[in-house]
Amino acid sequence: NGCTSFLRENLLTLLTIIGVLSGTLLGWSLRASGYEWTRRDVMYFQYPGELFLRMLKSLIVPLLVSSIVSAIGSLDLSLSGKVGLRAIIYYMTTTVCAVMLGIALVTTIQPGRTSDPFTATNTTTKKVTKDTLTSDTLLDLIRNVFPENIAQATIASYRTRLSYDPNDSRSIKGHLETYKIEGDYQSGSNVLGLVCFSVVLGITLGKMGDKSKPLQNFFHSLSEAMMIITGWVIWLSPLGVFFLVTAKIMEIESFAELVGRLGLYFMTVLLGLFLHGFGTLSVLFILATKKLPCRYIAKMGQVMATAFGTASSSATMPITIGCCDEMGLDPRITRFVIPIGATINMDGTALYEAVAAIFIAQLRRVDMSFGKIVAVSVTATAASIGAAGIPQAGLVTMVMVLDTVNLPAEDVSIILAVDWLLDRFRTTINVVCDALGAIIVASLSQGDIEKSRALQNDRENATT
Ligand code: ASP
Repeated sequence: NGCTSFLRENLLTLLTIIGVLSGTLLGWSLRASGYEWTRRDVMYFQYPGELFLRMLKSLIVPLLVSSIVSAIGSLDLSLSGKVGLRAIIYYMTTTVCAVMLGIALVTTIQPGRTSDPFTATNTTTKKVTKDTLTSDTLLDLIRNVFPENIAQATIASYRTRLSYDPNDSRSIKGHLETYKIEGDYQSGSNVLGLVCFSVVLGITLGKMGDKSKPLQNFFHSLSEAMMIITGWVIWLSPLGVFFLVTAKIMEIESFAELVGRLGLYFMTVLLGLFLHGFGTLSVLFILATKKLPCRYIAKMGQVMATAFGTASSSATMPITIGCCDEMGLDPRITRFVIPIGATINMDGTALYEAVAAIFIAQLRRVDMSFGKIVAVSVTATAASIGAAGIPQAGLVTMVMVLDTVNLPAEDVSIILAVDWLLDRFRTTINVVCDALGAIIVASLSQGDIEKSRALQNDRENATT
């Protein structure tokens, strides 16, 4: 009887995990069949998964904005300040811990020392982005926090590009080359800007009191409606992840690097993610809530399987919020902290950025002074905040970490071969960290919430 009720309660989670496993199996068998699968074949296999992803993605912007606005608007102003502060402290602490763990592991294991050194000629020079400097990326990060046009922010974010311009006399990089600084908008929503705008709007509505009721009701209903749609879409996740994983396995050119030259690097990142998830985060959780995390992590199976299958914390966000609702957390807290966490809190990504940059430096036989290591940790943290919650976004923001150790942007191509798989693991840690953070913040804010509720009751009693 216990078994059937367990099955009923966790049916979807089990199906999604089965989806990931059977997708892997099918992908392997299709590869092993010896048939030459074309890009078009892979696209057909991926298609149902792509539709699932599109449905989830369509919920992101409306859910993110309406959740944050309505959650902050409905909390007492001082209370939302406290909740926000706790969340930010948690995000920063865990990200810094992740980066330090990554650096400790990569400098002791030294995956880049054991492999053959790379010379400039034996790397493929596939350009991922045009040249940008660390300072440009950092300035862009802050620019994006303040979108100039909120409608545009839903579809594009700002990015500086340096392009070679022989007619411009201002030398920006190097002595021989001159670059022109250009800015343009690249597709993909500016989630950071939307978060900032929503927080400000939420605070304003909270301050306006009764006059804000119509807007508050609007955002509240919108967020509830998005969660109802999420509840429907979530039932497609077993099939969705099944096709996404199958197609991904089919399309990978070679698995040799997983055990070859990049094997030790791969294992270092994986070990770091594991230690961070089960070590650091668990210890923090126990300290903050005085409870064991296992029971909660067990309930996150659906979230983890979706994060692994989609490699996107943004696409997983609706499911993370749903999971927190099921755990009985205060929706005003989860709808406030989860969307922000999914955007800026990426521990797995931060750890990976630090390990990857130092690994490449080791391969290139670049000496890492203490100052350089500090620079890597600062930029890896910024790169994880700036990375969008979409597949392999971390690979793009890595350029800024590489730049701090004077390595060219093209060097990200060295780790490209295993990134698709590492991405899935780090995304899983990213979302687990968000969900655990919501539980921690909710538990730490319990007392304040009760106090504010008692105060409100007193006020209501006084008026009647
Ligand atoms: N795919 C990751 C995420 O969505 C970001 C990254 O590290 O590439 O969380």
